[in-house]
Amino acid sequence: CFCHLSGQVDDCFCDIETLEQFNNEKVYPLIQDIILKDYFRYYKVNLFKPCKFFDGDVGLCENEACSVKICPEEDLPKGMRNENFNKNCHEKGTLTICDSKKMDLGDVNGTLSNITKDFLSQWDVHDNTIHRFCDLDDETSADLQYVDLVNNPERYTGYKGPMAWRIWKSIYEENCFLPEDSNKKKNVMYAPFSQGENILQVTNGDLQGMCLEKRVFYRVISGLHTSINTHLSMEYLFEDGWGEKKWGPNLQEFQRRFDPSITKGEGTARLKNLYFIFLLELRALSKLYLYFKQESIFLFTGRLKEDKDMKQMLIKLLEVTNNFPMHFDEGVMFKDENAKSLKIEFAQRFLNVTRIIDCVTCEKCRLWGKLQTQGLGTALKILFSGEEISGIDNPPFKLLRQEVVSLVNAFARLSESIKSLEKFRELILLQQRSH
Ligand code: FAD
Repeated sequence: CFCHLSGQVDDCFCDIETLEQFNNEKVYPLIQDIILKDYFRYYKVNLFKPCKFFDGDVGLCENEACSVKICPEEDLPKGMRNENFNKNCHEKGTLTICDSKKMDLGDVNGTLSNITKDFLSQWDVHDNTIHRFCDLDDETSADLQYVDLVNNPERYTGYKGPMAWRIWKSIYEENCFLPEDSNKKKNVMYAPFSQGENILQVTNGDLQGMCLEKRVFYRVISGLHTSINTHLSMEYLFEDGWGEKKWGPNLQEFQRRFDPSITKGEGTARLKNLYFIFLLELRALSKLYLYFKQESIFLFTGRLKEDKDMKQMLIKLLEVTNNFPMHFDEGVMFKDENAKSLKIEFAQRFLNVTRIIDCVTCEKCRLWGKLQTQGLGTALKILFSGEEISGIDNPPFKLLRQEVVSLVNAFARLSESIKSLEKFRELILLQQRSH
C-alpha cells in the first residue's frame, strides 16, 4: 500500500515502523483520553482577529460545517469562568467555591531556575529576543471566547478552491524558505492560483540543496498540511439524496491527495513530513516531563478530582514521550556562523504563518488552524529556549494555559493522523480484495 511506508523519517534517526507502533500503542490511547479532560477540551481563542493580508475578497465559507459553536460561560467548569480568572476555587460537596485570593492559576507557572542543572543541560542555548513564535492573546480580554473542541471537531468542511489555496500559497511561497534556484522562483511564484497545482512545489530534490533549518521549516508546514488533509479525508461529509448527512472515511479523497501515482510522486514525501512534525512535537513534549512533574505547577479548572487525574495522565504521557529512544535532535540546528540571524528569521517567518491563519475564511478551519499552529509554535519555543531563560535579566520561562492546551491538542491531532493511516490501509486492502 502506498501509505505503508518504511525506512527512516527524513532528517531524523528514527524508522517509520517503530514510530507508528509507538504512536498507535502508547501515545494514541493515552492522549485521546487526555484531550477529553476539561482543562484540554475548552480552548480560549480570538477567532475574529482582523486579517492583515490579501486585498481581494474571495468570500466566506458559508457551509454549515464551517461554523463554530462558542461555549457559553455556564457550560464551563466554575474555575475557568471569566469571573473566577486566577481565583482560588475549591469544591465543597456539589458546590465549587471561589475566593478572591489570587492564584495565578490560569497559567502554568514555574521557573526554570527551580529545576536541576541536569535538566537545564538538555535545553539548547536560548536567545530571549527571538523566542516568540506566536502572538499570545491576553487571556482576560473580552475578544477571547471558549470553544469546546470536542463539540467542534476538525473534519471536512468544504472549504477549498481559491479561498483555501491563497492561504497555502502564501504560506509556502512567501513564508517557507525557497530553494536557491532563482529560475524556479521566477517561473512558479507568480503563476495565477486558479489551480492548486500552481502553488510552488518544493520537491525532495530541492530540499537536498537547502540547509537543515530551512528543510525543517518546510517539513513542519508540509506535515501539518498532510495532517489537516488526512483528517478531512477520514471524516468526510457524505450526503444522501434525502439530505441525510454522515461523516466517515473517504478513501478516494485520501488517494487523490497522497497516492504517488496521482501526485507525481510527491504524496510519499508529504506523508513522511507528517512523521517528521510528529517527531518534532514529541521531542518538545518530552522536554516538559521534568517541568510538569514539579508540584508547583498547576493545571486548574476548579474540579479538583478531575484536575488531579488529568495531571497524572499528562505526566504519564510526558514520561512515555521522554522514554522514546529516537528523538528529533534540535541540538544540531542553528550551529553555524549565521545561526543567530537564521534563528531570528525562522521565528519571524513562523510568526507570520500564525498570523495568516486569521485570513482563513472558514471559521472551523481557522479554529483548528490556529490551535495547530499555536501548538507547533509552542513546540518551537520549547525546543529553542534554554539556559539563559533562568538568567537574571530574562523573565522566567513559563507556559501559558493557551500554549499548553494548544500543544497537547495539536500533538493529539498528529497522533490521530498517524493512527488513521492504519485505517486507510485496511480500506485499501478491502478494496483490493473486492476487485
Ligand atoms: P490543497 O490541500 O489546498 O493544497 C494546495 C496545493 O498544495 C496542492 O495542489 C499541492 O500542490 C500542495 N500540497 C498539498 N498537500 C501538501 C503537503 N502536505 N505538503 C506540501 N504541499 C502540499 N478543509 C476542511 O475540509 N477541513 C478543515 O478543517 C480544513 N482546515 C484548513 C486549515 C487551513 C489553515 C487551511 C489553509 C485549509 C484548511 N482546509 C480544511 C482546506 C484544505 O486544506 C484544502 O485546502 C482543501 O481541501 C482543498 O484541497 P486541494 O486538493 O485543492 O489541495
